Amino acid sequence: MSLDDLYQDLILEHARYPHHRGTLSDPTVTLDAQNPTCGDEIHLQLKLSGDERKIEDIAFSGHGCTISQASASMMTDLVLGLSVKEALEKVQAFQDMMRTGEPREELGDAVALAGVSRFPVRIKCALLAWMALKEALEEAGAM
Ligand code: ZN
Repeated sequence: MSLDDLYQDLILEHARYPHHRGTLSDPTVTLDAQNPTCGDEIHLQLKLSGDERKIEDIAFSGHGCTISQASASMMTDLVLGLSVKEALEKVQAFQDMMRTGEPREELGDAVALAGVSRFPVRIKCALLAWMALKEALEEAGAM
């Protein structure tokens, strides 16, 4: 089994059984993001700690292609429990990976999306959840 096959399986599994899918009862911020070129939609909710420095809970809903939904599942796994600063570093690492195609191990399961960088039209699908996270943190005044 090649690395590409392993990555493919990981992407399909996240898309089929997304982690942190749903809604929060008491979100600090809710953000809707769309990728019109593909029709992907993400509704992201964050619960920040009282001092707004830490992501205490996270959930997403929405619909779209396999890449967009898998990426959202992977992102929520990765940033839950992180500080705002750490989460933004992960967003930056993911953006870098989409630009360069270099796998970034610190991205957890999301490293499986490195190959998406070869398909420019799909990069927006992969980036959607990460850009939504960044915008949500901005909106919450946490940056
Ligand atoms: Zn898409």
